[in-house]
Amino acid sequence: LSVIIPMFNEQEIASKTYVRLSNVLKAHPHELIFIDDGSSDQTLEILKECIQKDPGPLERNRVISFSRNFGHQAAFSAGIEEAQGDCTVIIDGDLQDPPELILEMIKKWEEGYQVVYAQRRKREGESLFKLVTAKVFYRILNSLTSIAIPTDTGDFRLMDSQVVDHLRQLPERSRFLRGLVCWVGFKHIGIQYDRAQRE
Ligand code: UDP
Ligand code: MG
Repeated sequence: LSVIIPMFNEQEIASKTYVRLSNVLKAHPHELIFIDDGSSDQTLEILKECIQKDPGPLERNRVISFSRNFGHQAAFSAGIEEAQGDCTVIIDGDLQDPPELILEMIKKWEEGYQVVYAQRRKREGESLFKLVTAKVFYRILNSLTSIAIPTDTGDFRLMDSQVVDHLRQLPERSRFLRGLVCWVGFKHIGIQYDRAQRE
């Protein structure tokens, strides 16, 4: 299992995220691929320290460091270039996406689903502005495209290596990953979760 985690100025939570992911995934051979997206705080140093202390079960945990802030979609693209797992998970680094859900995603993958996306049942601690704009954004997006993009999802998802291979081949540089993942097709399923507050 490959796990891609974008991080931008997350020094307060970086080591907690590292430990929680490592613990949750104990039973599965995995590599954690952190992307430090040009943080101006200690995120990179903290991640390096975590990796030194615990390089992971395959000793493949690592951090890719960007030369400046490119945005988290670019971070995902970099992660996808590196991921070598039979399946790959994309997850936010601020623990708003619960790492425990990855275990449920793996179960669905074992049942034969090639994309398992997490769908928010409720969102704690988000402003009314964010909730309304998010809703409007997905409604407009879906009215503009013939590809069905599930509402109330973020990038938090598991993808089979076959899907990841196809994403790697797409020529787009400025990417909207959760749209492209729908565009490439394959067998999808959503699982519901309650989105926590940013820790
Ligand atoms: N992030 C990133 N680059 C950025 C902004 C955010 O890598 O320029 C990371 C951030 O550290 C987090 C994830 O992307 O792990 C999601 O960002 P954020 O929590 O700000 O998004 P939201 O939860 O509001 O959707
Ligand atoms: Mg967040």
